[in-house]
Amino acid sequence: MTYAAPLADIRFTLREIAGQADIAALPGYENATDDMIDAVLEEAGKLSGNALAPLNRTGDQQGSRLENGVVRTPEGFVGVYRQFIDGGWNSLPFDPEFGGQGMPWLLATAVQEMWQSANMGFGLVLLLNQGAIDAIHHHGSPEQKATYLPKMIEGAWTGTMNLTEPQAGSDLAQLRSRAVPQGDHYLITGQKIFITYGEHDLAENIVHLVLARTPDAPPGVRGISLFIVPKLLPNADGSPGKRNDVRCVSIEHKLGIHASPTCVMSFGDDGGAIGWRIGEEGRGLSYMFTMMNNARLAVGVQGLAIAERAYQQAVAYARSRVQSKDDTRPDPKPVAIVRHADIRRMLMTMRSQIEAMRGLGYYTAAAIDCALKHPDTDARRKAQDRVDLLIPIVKAWFTDLGNEIASLGVQVHGGMGFIEETGAAQHLRDARILPIYEGTNGIQARDLVGRKVAKDGGETMSSLTAEMRALATALEVVAGDDTAVLADAVAKAADALDDATAWVAQTGKADIGAALAGSVPFLRLAGTALGGWLLAKGALVAHRRLASREGDPAFNEAKIVTARFYAEVILPPALAQLGPLKSAGRTVFALAEEQF
Ligand SMILES: Cc1cc2nc3c(=O)[nH]c(=O)nc-3n(C[C@H](O)[C@H](O)[C@H](O)COP(=O)(O)OP(=O)(O)OC[C@H]3O[C@@H](n4cnc5c(N)ncnc54)[C@H](O)[C@@H]3O)c2cc1C
Repeated sequence: MTYAAPLADIRFTLREIAGQADIAALPGYENATDDMIDAVLEEAGKLSGNALAPLNRTGDQQGSRLENGVVRTPEGFVGVYRQFIDGGWNSLPFDPEFGGQGMPWLLATAVQEMWQSANMGFGLVLLLNQGAIDAIHHHGSPEQKATYLPKMIEGAWTGTMNLTEPQAGSDLAQLRSRAVPQGDHYLITGQKIFITYGEHDLAENIVHLVLARTPDAPPGVRGISLFIVPKLLPNADGSPGKRNDVRCVSIEHKLGIHASPTCVMSFGDDGGAIGWRIGEEGRGLSYMFTMMNNARLAVGVQGLAIAERAYQQAVAYARSRVQSKDDTRPDPKPVAIVRHADIRRMLMTMRSQIEAMRGLGYYTAAAIDCALKHPDTDARRKAQDRVDLLIPIVKAWFTDLGNEIASLGVQVHGGMGFIEETGAAQHLRDARILPIYEGTNGIQARDLVGRKVAKDGGETMSSLTAEMRALATALEVVAGDDTAVLADAVAKAADALDDATAWVAQTGKADIGAALAGSVPFLRLAGTALGGWLLAKGALVAHRRLASREGDPAFNEAKIVTARFYAEVILPPALAQLGPLKSAGRTVFALAEEQF
């Protein structure tokens, strides 16, 4: 049940896939030296392995409890959260003007992976706070920033995201919570459900970001505004003061992430919770999207993180469980199951997809840094286009894989995987929420097809496939069987992704229903192809390193073998999604009209 941060692969991915050096050279990131990044990773690895991971199982068993209006987190959470504040961990990527350390999102993403692997139930409080800080930073007034950001960046106060209502989940146009102006503030009334860390005992105050409608607002999404509603109203000196009219009325009993309190929040039972509008009236949802881009990357990273945790546990079990003789040897003695072909196939399936995700996740985080800090306007815009395209892929593909890999982890354990004591089952239960919250994966695929590809007719995707082809060419000129296989696989992946994108862009214009019916297979194809590209990129670096006797040869060889497994086993069925995605469009509606 232990977790050891995979620092060697994290470092390799940061440097060789995501371009750590280029990101560190951006104006504003002068402090992100190689030494500093190494030191941060090292310390985060210790904190996640030594302090957070041991609380994962007990957190699952105890869960958070609501007692007389107060949510008590599991044993040890208060203490470990204190360590986060004292170590300045909350402040890593934020603006130094408000107490942040101004480090790249690239580094923050790698660190986030470790927190989420070690303890997802705990990691959620950090994830939500990060998104709320981002939204206030981008859209808050100078006073709002001065009041809330330093406390939230320190972690003394935490943020929440209050969107969902019983009748408004994926469809936020149906929101009913109300915000009535009164003097310099608004009075908020309504009920929000499923609010992660809506109430807890880790911080001295909780800052709710709430979507609600003003009295004369038009119906639909244009009538929605965003409000800051603190649990304790800040005094003039910034300290937390009087209790606001907002409370947690119950917490949900869930399949997983038991440690994370999922709260039903009631606003305005005694007349109205005091809230302050962020930005302009009617722009609430677009402001929330700023936060959602950040949160969706982080949720994708949760998929990667839970997969890594499940993989580490599966490897350890496979090495220790002795069962059956080795079919490839005459010796009849039973051996560790890691010797068996099918166990190895499962472990390679887990490992290769984890490394593919890590590549694409960090690549996306680096694009966020470019979009924020690049001195050239055109480069910033291009980076932002890539971020916008990649976010739904990262969110949905990673979280689907998180589930598949956690399920493989159970399978590697045999019967013991189904028994709670080993912990393999917890990863599967915890992973199950990931394709649902922060916009279901169906909604991500709809966003990818309906907005992101439609916006530019597939141009941004083409800029990525052009890079894939350039890598295929670079691989082709390197002699060797491995590089030849990888060159061919990457070229085929680029072709399939181009074909699929063209189909989606064209069909989307003529028949949006048909394009949407193929949107999930399209997203899967895109994620698998892009992940394969970045794995192959890593393999080329590893190949060069081996040739020049640089670095650990075992690590470099493993990178090549892993990329080759992915190219030969994982990519081909994913690329064959093109057929299903086209026929889904033809058949889904014809059947659905009559049958459902
Ligand atoms: C543990 C947990 C924590 C959460 N944390 C938060 C939080 O902190 N803050 C917050 O505001 N919310 C939170 N949520 C809510 C979460 O974001 C929603 O559950 C999610 O957005 C889906 O909404 P819904 O449950 O109403 O499902 P629905 O919207 O009813 O969806 C049901 C199904 O219909 C599909 N569907 C709906 N519309 C479409 C469409 N147009 N096209 C295709 N398919 C469609 C969905 O993909 C899904 O499969 C949390 C939920 C849970 C369970």
